[in-house]
Amino acid sequence: MRKGRRVVVPFGKRKLAGVVVDEGQEADLKGYKAKELLDVDMELPPLSEELLDLTKWIAKYYMCSWGEAARSALPPGSAAATARSRIKTVIMVGLSPNAPEHPPRGSKQFAILEQLRIWDAAERLPVTQTELLAAAGGTSATVRRLAQMGFLEIDVAEMDRSGGGSSDRDSSRLDLHKEQVRAIEAISNQLDSGKFGCFLLHGVTGSGKTEVYLQALQHARKTGRTAIVLVPEISLTPQTVYRFRSRFGDEVAVLHSRMSQGERYDAWRGIGEGRYPIVIGPRSAILAPVKNPGIIIVDEEHESSYKQYDPAPRYHARDVAVVRAMNNGATCILGSATPSLETLSNARQGKYTLLEMPERVPIAGKPAKLPDIHVVDLRNEKTLRQQNRVLSERLVNAIAARKESSEQTILLLNRRGFSPIMECTSCGWVPECSDCSVSMVYHKPLHHLRCHYCGRTAPVPVSCSSCGQPTMDFAGSGTQRLEEELEERIPGIRLLRMDLDTTSTKGAHHRILDQFGRGEADVLLGTQMVAKGLDFERVTLVGIINAEAGLQLPDIRAEERAFQLLTQVAGRAGRANLAGEVLLQSRQPGHPVIQFALRHDYAGFAEYALEARSLLNYPPGGKLFSIVFSGPKDEITRKYAEQWRNLIDSRLQSVDRLGPSPAFVHKLKNRFRYQILLKVPTNVPSSHVRNGIQEANKALGSLSDGYRLTVDVDPAGVI
Ligand code: ADP
Ligand code: ZN
Ligand code: ZN
Repeated sequence: MRKGRRVVVPFGKRKLAGVVVDEGQEADLKGYKAKELLDVDMELPPLSEELLDLTKWIAKYYMCSWGEAARSALPPGSAAATARSRIKTVIMVGLSPNAPEHPPRGSKQFAILEQLRIWDAAERLPVTQTELLAAAGGTSATVRRLAQMGFLEIDVAEMDRSGGGSSDRDSSRLDLHKEQVRAIEAISNQLDSGKFGCFLLHGVTGSGKTEVYLQALQHARKTGRTAIVLVPEISLTPQTVYRFRSRFGDEVAVLHSRMSQGERYDAWRGIGEGRYPIVIGPRSAILAPVKNPGIIIVDEEHESSYKQYDPAPRYHARDVAVVRAMNNGATCILGSATPSLETLSNARQGKYTLLEMPERVPIAGKPAKLPDIHVVDLRNEKTLRQQNRVLSERLVNAIAARKESSEQTILLLNRRGFSPIMECTSCGWVPECSDCSVSMVYHKPLHHLRCHYCGRTAPVPVSCSSCGQPTMDFAGSGTQRLEEELEERIPGIRLLRMDLDTTSTKGAHHRILDQFGRGEADVLLGTQMVAKGLDFERVTLVGIINAEAGLQLPDIRAEERAFQLLTQVAGRAGRANLAGEVLLQSRQPGHPVIQFALRHDYAGFAEYALEARSLLNYPPGGKLFSIVFSGPKDEITRKYAEQWRNLIDSRLQSVDRLGPSPAFVHKLKNRFRYQILLKVPTNVPSSHVRNGIQEANKALGSLSDGYRLTVDVDPAGVI
C-alpha cells in the first residue's frame, strides 16, 4: 500500500478514515489478527512524503495528533469514512460517424436519434446525456443501447468544479524602480541557489510589493518549480488575486473559504496532479499538495488570520510556510508594510534577510508621497456625545469636499472597540492591570474589572484616575449609526457599507468593491475590512472614526494590531497621482501608538513595543503556551484547570505560570472556559515545556464527558 493513501479501516464497530503513514514488514501482531482495509481512495493523489513529514512536524510543534495535522492537508470531507467518489463525471453523447443505415426500432430510440441529428445540424454536439434526455425523453439505458448498436458515441468526462484557471493573461511586466530591482535580484539569486532562504520584504503601502512577488514567481516558474502564495482572506483581497490571475492565467488555482466541498476537492486534485503549479489561498493553502515548491510568499505576514485557533492543528501558516520552504530548499518571502515583531526580530537576528522599500512607487517620474495624517482631537468636540454623533465637523467637511470634486473617501470604524472596556470620556484614560499592561475588562455579573491574563480584579472606578472627572463610560459605536449620521449631515451622499452584515452572502465583497471602483459611491465605510489591500486611485481621503479603539484590548498584541491597522488604512489614500490625506479622530491623540502612526514611524513603534514585550517575556522576547479548559459546568471546569496548574507547578518551575483565570470569552456556546498561560523565557528549551505539558496532561487523566483541554502554542489574539 502506497504511503500517503487515504484509507478506511474498521475500528471496533465503527469505520474510521486514515492515512497510510508507513509500510512495514510483517508486523509481530502478538496474537492479534490484522484486519483488512475497507476501502482505499485511489482518486485523490496520495499525500506526498514531504507533506507527511510536514504534518508530522506540525503535530509535534503545535501539540496535536498527526491525524489532526494530516487532515488539514486533505481536502475537507475526505476525512469522513464514507463514499469515495467525489469526482463528478458527465456523460457526453455524440453521433457515430459510421452509424447503421436503417433506423432504430424503438420509438424512444428514434426520438433520441432525431434530437441528436437536429443538434448536429446546428453544430451543437456533443451534448451531455442529461440535456439530451431532458429534450428527447428516454433513459440512460436507451442511450446505452443506441451506443451498443453503433448509432451513438459516449464519452465520460470528468468535471472540474474548482474553476481554477483562465487563459487570458497580461504578462506585461512593469519597469521596476530601484528598490524593487534590488529586492528581485536578491530573491532571484536565492532561487538560483536552490537552497532555503527567507526574506522579510518590508515595504510601505504602495511601494510595489505585489510586483516583486509577481516577478519572483516568474523567476521561480522558469526554473520549473511550483509556488504557494498566502493572502490573509481571499474575499478581502480580490485586487491582489486578480493581479496574479492576469499574470499567470491558468497556472493558478485560487482557494478560498467559501468554496463548496466539491470545488475544493477538484482544486486539490488538480494541484496534486500538477495542473495548477501556482496556488493562492488563505492559511489552509500552505498545506496544498504542490510538488517541489520553489517559492512560498506570505503577503501581509503580520495578519492574525494566519493563525488557526479551532480546531486543531492550531498552526500559524506563516511559520509553517517558513518550515515548508526550509524542508524543500525553497525561497520564502514574508511581506508587509508593518511586519510583526516576531518576524522583525528574526530578521534582526539574521535568520531572515531584510529587504526594505521605504518609498512609494513614483508616479509619472514624480516621487509619490505617503499621505499626510492629521489628528482630530475628540476631547475638544464636546457636543458630539450630547448629540449622539461620532463625526467631527472637520471630517464631515472634508468628506463633503471630496464629494464635490468627485473624489472618494474610505471611512474606518474599528470594531475592536466593542468589548466592554471602560474609558474616561474627558481624557481617554482606560484602567489597566498593573502586572500585565493590558486593559481590564468589565464583568457585568460581578460588576468589577478583571485582567484576562492574570485574573487580577479591581472595582469599577467612579471617577477617572488620570484627570479626576466622574466621566467613566463604555467605549463603542456602530457602522449603521455612522451611515445614518452621514446621510443626515451630507444630503445626497452615496454610501457603501462593508461589514459583517453586508458581506454575509457569496460574492458580496466583490460587488461592493466593484461598485466603489466604478465610482458609484462617494464613501466606502466599514470595519477592518476596508483597511486592507484596496487600491483605488480616486480615494484621496481616509477617515478613522475611533483611532484609539482596540488599543486597550486585553491582548499583548493590542497596540501592535492598532498600529498595523492605522498604517494599513492610511495607506489606502493617495495611491495614484492625487495626493492623499488622512483624518484620524481620537480621544487619546497623545497615545504613543497614535503618535507613531501619525509620523509613519514603524521603526519607532517597533522599538517601543519590543522593549515592552521583552520586559515582560512576551513574544518575541519569550514564548507563550495557552492551555484552555472548557466544559458545561463552571465549577468543574475551574477545578480541572486548578488541578492541572498544580500538576504543572512542580514540573515547569523555570517558566512563568499565570492563571487559571476565566478566558476572555468566559462562556462560549454554553461552555465555561478557563485559561492558564505559560510564559517561557528564551533560554528555556520549548521541548522541555512540551514534555512538562504532556506529563501534566497524563497525570490529570482523562476528563469527564463534555470537558476538554486544548493546548495553543504561540497563541494569537484574545482567547
Ligand atoms: P504594495 O503591495 O506595496 O502596497 P502595490 O504592489 O499594490 O504596492 O503597488 C502600488 C501600485 O503601484 C499598484 O497600482 C502597482 O500596479 C503600481 N506599481 C508597482 N510597481 C510599479 C512600477 N515599477 N512602476 C509603475 N507602477 C508600479
Ligand atoms: Zn494582569
Ligand atoms: Zn479622565
